[in-house]
Amino acid sequence: GFKMGIVGLPNVGKSTLFNALTRTAAAQAANFPFCTIEPNVGEVAVPDARLDQLAAIAQSKQIIPTRMTFVDIAGLVKGASKGEGLGNQFLANIREVDAIAHVLRCFEDGDVTHVEGRVDPVADAETIETELMLADIESIEKRLQNIVRKVRGGDKEAVQQERLMRMALAVLEDGRPARVVDVDAEDLKAWRMLQLLTTKPVLYVCNVGEGDAAEGNDLSAKVAQMAAAQGNAHVIISAQIEEEISQLEPEEAQMFLEEMGLSEAGLDRLIRAGYELLHLETYFTVGPKEARAWTIASGTTAPKAAGVIHGDFEKGFIRAETIAFDDFVTLGGEGPAKEAGKMRAEGKGYVVKDGDVLHFLFNT
Ligand code: GDP
Repeated sequence: GFKMGIVGLPNVGKSTLFNALTRTAAAQAANFPFCTIEPNVGEVAVPDARLDQLAAIAQSKQIIPTRMTFVDIAGLVKGASKGEGLGNQFLANIREVDAIAHVLRCFEDGDVTHVEGRVDPVADAETIETELMLADIESIEKRLQNIVRKVRGGDKEAVQQERLMRMALAVLEDGRPARVVDVDAEDLKAWRMLQLLTTKPVLYVCNVGEGDAAEGNDLSAKVAQMAAAQGNAHVIISAQIEEEISQLEPEEAQMFLEEMGLSEAGLDRLIRAGYELLHLETYFTVGPKEARAWTIASGTTAPKAAGVIHGDFEKGFIRAETIAFDDFVTLGGEGPAKEAGKMRAEGKGYVVKDGDVLHFLFNT
């Protein structure tokens, strides 16, 4: 599955957000640094109105949304790459996620201590990015020594790796993240294998006070500006509101949102932004028993998509009976879509499209 790591300085609202996301009290919010010591892992349902539409048409008994994993990663402080705070553990946990949700404190509150003694989300973002860049430099320098030995021994892969490491090192030493490097298609695989922290896509989460949840504030505006300049995404959320909403029944939650002037829960926007950031798409399987959503990376072929359900589906793949979402809905279900000639038989090379309703035929 796909994993988002929630990172940020201590006391910016990570645990509050994580609690709201996973609706558990597992990650205890508390007003002191280093409260979250172990990484907490939680799965959340990806909200998708299309799934409900499909289920209504097919009168499916059960609706099963697709899921995304969030990891609450322990607080980082200046000096983490040198082992300060929970630095090394933090960096190891970050290496394992597909993308980073970087929570930035965009609320003023004299009762909540800021580790640096001032509220400045842009400076906070730089503090963390700097630690990640330093960690990347250190890991590359360590690995270069080994690689140089292999290069001398005539290892072709090592030659490619050394070249990529030096490209990364050049931008990192210039104070920029490795994600700015333009990598050729034939180098992409080797580049990903370097597993650099600053190549992971970043989504800034502006944690604003309750009153600013709808419009944001001056601090979140500065983050938006920074994010745009970097080509990164941002969302505005009030972690406290989200935590309150997560404890309400759906109808109550809807009323509460309307009172706050919000059209949808911030968490839904956050999850969707994560989905976009990771270039993820959804396909559906729909029948009277259940309507279910499945996550794939954009560009995934039919056998690989089948493999998300079960490895045997991929191994024995014969074909995928496919109905586009719009056809399924406008024509009123599988039967009518089939009659109208809108059910296509697609083979191994078919690239699944977002919203496809699929049946897989396979050999056992
Ligand atoms: P973490 O260390 O980043 O995980 O931060 P926590 O989630 O534990 O939050 C630290 C403190 O800030 C807690 O006392 C939260 O209740 C408080 N907090 C979180 N979000 C907000 C907010 O939007 N406004 C205010 N005033 N306090 C917040």
